[in-house]
Amino acid sequence: MSHVAIVGGGIAGLSAAYELAKRSVPFQIFEASHRFGGIVETEHHDGFVMECGPDGWITEKPWARELAIELGLADDLIASNDATRITWIYRDGQLHAIPEGMRMMVPTNLNALRYSALFSQEAIEAYEREPSRAHELKQYAADHAGTDESVANFIRRHFGEEVTRTIAAPLLAGVFGGDVGTLSAEAVMPQFVSMEREHGSLINALTARTSANAQPVFTSLRNGLGTLIDSIVVTLPQQSQKLHHTVAAIKHENAHWHVEASGEWRAFDHLILATPAHVTRTLLSSIDTEAAALLDMPASSAVLVALAFTAEQSQNIQIPAGFGFLVPPKTQGSGLLAATFVDQKFPHRVPPGGRLLRAFFGSATAEQMQSETDAYIAAVAHAQLCDLLGTQLPEPSHTVVRRWPQSLPQYTVGHRARMRRLDERIALQPALTLLGNAYRGVGLPDLIRDGRATAASIAT
Ligand SMILES: Cc1cc2nc3c(=O)[nH]c(=O)nc-3n(C[C@H](O)[C@H](O)[C@H](O)COP(=O)(O)OP(=O)(O)OC[C@H]3O[C@@H](n4cnc5c(N)ncnc54)[C@H](O)[C@@H]3O)c2cc1C
Repeated sequence: MSHVAIVGGGIAGLSAAYELAKRSVPFQIFEASHRFGGIVETEHHDGFVMECGPDGWITEKPWARELAIELGLADDLIASNDATRITWIYRDGQLHAIPEGMRMMVPTNLNALRYSALFSQEAIEAYEREPSRAHELKQYAADHAGTDESVANFIRRHFGEEVTRTIAAPLLAGVFGGDVGTLSAEAVMPQFVSMEREHGSLINALTARTSANAQPVFTSLRNGLGTLIDSIVVTLPQQSQKLHHTVAAIKHENAHWHVEASGEWRAFDHLILATPAHVTRTLLSSIDTEAAALLDMPASSAVLVALAFTAEQSQNIQIPAGFGFLVPPKTQGSGLLAATFVDQKFPHRVPPGGRLLRAFFGSATAEQMQSETDAYIAAVAHAQLCDLLGTQLPEPSHTVVRRWPQSLPQYTVGHRARMRRLDERIALQPALTLLGNAYRGVGLPDLIRDGRATAASIAT
């Protein structure tokens, strides 16, 4: 029976390990750090569930939910509190609500735009014109089939410059830590690209399908996503788990993959590299230089700060209703890209009356913060939240700071074509698979789907 090495114990590697264990395929999972989960990590303090990385997944993609149910976590699944699903955008010194019915930057209710101060009359008119431009937009898609473009270009063609700057830029920065001017439309918003191909107008396409889709936008686990990691790890044989094992080199010899960790070489039939792109690139450089070069992709760093306030401290905290707010990149005086009002987004994350805020820094600010102290980063997050919310927050009872260097790979224009070429190169190697957030999606459901599918195909 095939003996498999998995390098990297984030959700991608763990999903593969889970499926191999389930199918009784022997494997070893090498993880450099002291814990499994990678970017997925939860801390608990006095009834506060403090996510250090992701805080949920997109409900529409079924693979994380399916895994959670298989692991016996069906009763722990929680839905985002969509009754209060308002996201705010900071503009001209104040927070403006994204109008009701928006799917990212595409409205499904044009009337709601008229009551929003977020957009100028000109931007509203650009939105109103888009459905009548369906034929022209569809023709453009047909004429440019197979050609990628930036998200900025794509959104500008549909809705103009103001919409691109005011809503598309902060949304993409808040989710991917990325720049709309360089991110790939076909890799980052494939659903909109295929809507354009089919309908021309995105507004027409979304309006046609919205009524059928009533599920909550996000799903999570009552006690945090760390529960998912813990529940996977208990299914893995103890002897397969190699924590504190940094894989320093790999080679293929005598029909086997050889993996060097902690000064020892071990042989395997199949190798799964589930490390971040920059690590995979280094490991692959001695195997295939073209494949390694294709992995030379930019990755944005992230810093997350969670601030918890007890019920007593929260009495005078004024937070608008909703899930949180976004700040357009390069807003004067702010490096903050997004904040989540955790206690309003997900139930059960705070003790009664408590409040929990999360601040997300990305790009250049997060890069600079990697070498700052926790105390400094927490103070910056606190000050910027006070400033942008226009309120004085007390000192939090608990603070969690996490730095995630180079954690958000940037799918820049041409990403899919480069990944097809990478697949061709990897297919030339016997029994080698790449998993992780650099290739086919950064979200947890995509990584779980790919990890399990890879393991299933190795097993069969
Ligand atoms: C701040 C932030 C918030 C996010 N929020 C969400 C969200 O709400 N919902 C969502 O769906 N997605 C979210 N994402 C994306 C998602 O969390 C990540 O894409 C995903 O967790 C990455 O998983 P991974 O297994 O590919 O990589 P990682 O989690 O990075 O795991 C890779 C592992 O490899 C290990 N490793 C590295 N080098 C070696 C080596 N040489 N040898 C052995 N081990 C090694 C690392 O220690 C790490 O444990 C977020 C990402 C970030 C950064």
